Amino acid sequence: MAMLKITDLEVSYGMIQAIRGINFEVEQGEVIALIGANGAGKTTILHTVTGLLKCKAGKIEFEGKDITKLPGHKIVSLGMAHVPEGRRVFADLSVLENLKLGAYTRTDKQEIEDTLKVIYKRFPRLEERKSQMAGTLSGGEQQMLAMGRALMSHPKIILMDEPSMGLSPIFVSEIFDIIKEISASGTTVLVVEQNAKKALSIADRAYVLETGNIVLEGAAKDLLENDSVKKAYLGE
Ligand code: ATP
Repeated sequence: MAMLKITDLEVSYGMIQAIRGINFEVEQGEVIALIGANGAGKTTILHTVTGLLKCKAGKIEFEGKDITKLPGHKIVSLGMAHVPEGRRVFADLSVLENLKLGAYTRTDKQEIEDTLKVIYKRFPRLEERKSQMAGTLSGGEQQMLAMGRALMSHPKIILMDEPSMGLSPIFVSEIFDIIKEISASGTTVLVVEQNAKKALSIADRAYVLETGNIVLEGAAKDLLENDSVKKAYLGE
């Protein structure tokens, strides 16, 4: 059974159909990349899966449970976390306060403390800056904070929207190394990216999205060698 299964999903904004009947699956333990140009519908898919947007048709199943109509907070408590595009940290709250907000669906204080320790170990920079206002962090640090905040819910799967957006190359590499570590520690990853090269370099499998349709799918290493992917997405 797939951990996450999307069947015939359609999503519209009024008259504009952004997602036109797509199917994809994420198995437990996989890193899946969803790549596509600006406006292809990547963010729309993540918002629909996490309950922020309602779909027009189709089905979303998480661990065999139909979550298509569940509200976002219920989906989080089932074990799904979302790192939104553009980070969206709470600028006027400290790093620690932002992290604690990520644990809002959890109640066991000791377990929350233990998760915080794990996150500080993975992101030492967040511990060094725990009292600093999040709005004063650099872009890369805010991306780390957004990831750390999502991990505070102790998710089974983490959905990341364009983690490399607006970051310098050094930070991009660091963020993708961290995604690999998150995966190695047992969390399933679905990452949406315009930076196809980086995303394919860390993913197991990938789906290529064009104007609301999945046009290609396969092992990430095969897509890296695919001529049309090379031309359209890898600048080769
Ligand atoms: P980007 O990388 O630029 O975020 P994307 O692949 O994530 O692109 P989406 O943001 O999901 O793409 O947008 C898919 C389509 O839906 C686009 O044509 C976009 O213009 C449209 N769209 C997105 N949000 C809205 C909205 N709130 N109202 C109307 N149309 C929207």
